[in-house]
Amino acid sequence: MKPLKTGIFGGTLDPIHNGHLRSAEEVREAFGLAEVWFIPSARPPHKDAPCISPFSHRLKMADIAIRENPAFRVVDLEARRSGPSYSIDTLRELHEIHGEDRCFFFIMGADAFLEIEKWKEYRKLIDFCSIIIMSRDNALKDDAAGVVSRVWPHIRLDEQATADNFALGSVLFHRVTRLEISATSIRKKIKEGKSIRYLVPEKVREYMETNRLYMDQESDLANVSTHQPQSTIKEPDAGSERAVEIARAIHDNKGEDIIILDIRGMSAFADFFVIAHGRSTRHVEGMTSKIRRGLRDKKIKCKGIEGETEAKWVLMDYDDCIVHLFYEPVRKFYDLEGLWADAPRIAWQESPSLPDQ
Ligand code: ATP
Repeated sequence: MKPLKTGIFGGTLDPIHNGHLRSAEEVREAFGLAEVWFIPSARPPHKDAPCISPFSHRLKMADIAIRENPAFRVVDLEARRSGPSYSIDTLRELHEIHGEDRCFFFIMGADAFLEIEKWKEYRKLIDFCSIIIMSRDNALKDDAAGVVSRVWPHIRLDEQATADNFALGSVLFHRVTRLEISATSIRKKIKEGKSIRYLVPEKVREYMETNRLYMDQESDLANVSTHQPQSTIKEPDAGSERAVEIARAIHDNKGEDIIILDIRGMSAFADFFVIAHGRSTRHVEGMTSKIRRGLRDKKIKCKGIEGETEAKWVLMDYDDCIVHLFYEPVRKFYDLEGLWADAPRIAWQESPSLPDQ
């Protein structure tokens, strides 16, 4: 079977707007893409975290925006990794998971492309995808061609490519009706109390209004809650034994607000998330090594670990169970439990075998 041509539209998407949607649709049509996946950047490497909206809001708005287009999908892949969200890691992961049945097209505006040399492992991007650079006019085309010849001397910017005539690993240029909309201008208008109707899908506008997004930074953060369980509570079962064991180990090491999310059937990556936080990055760091040691003594082996050095968001891989250990403010900001609000929680605290809980 021929691999499905799949567009990847990344970005901060804070918020997603009609400029993104229209240009993605034009690219989809021009290159005969079966689907376009919108992948909001969980932690954009070039942006200051406190200045961007929580991932859960950005994801939700993207989800609402694309609902009426059957060829559009929203993918929350970047929320599952710790550390900055580098496109090369996302593309590598997508290639590993879907490399057999999909070929990827990384869609980006010419403005973004001209900055590509600042990206992590930028030369390797085309090992996993073709790049489609979109621009309203030809003004930036020469600059883009200059970048291509500098970065990949063996290829040329292809301006004539059509749906069927290009080689994989190409860099293609495509003219789109670029609507003069930017997320920055939308945020500014909201702050100034101006209308943003027709710049974003109406349902997205309603979502922003309901959640009072962009009115000021404090109100955005005030909308992030880690302490109000919205999900249903489930008793532990045989499958969740290991997650409970891990939660106990975190508790023994003074981890706070420990929850187990049952994501069986909701994610291809794992069955459970155990989420907790420490009061300082030092606490998180110390807790990480003690938990790992303690569990190893019980023959529960950690398969991989990320984010240990910074200790703001440590991710520990225990096969079917992924542990997210946060530094408290970072947990609040990324709001994983809000993102997975549909996942039931395992009531491990109430287990009779845990009298000290
Ligand atoms: P901000 O104003 O916060 O920088 P933005 O509107 O440029 O945001 P991003 O999320 O940074 O949006 O961009 C995601 C991708 O969308 C980038 O590749 C960017 O070049 C492209 N893009 C941004 N605005 C438009 C637009 N009006 N039309 C087409 N593409 C756009």
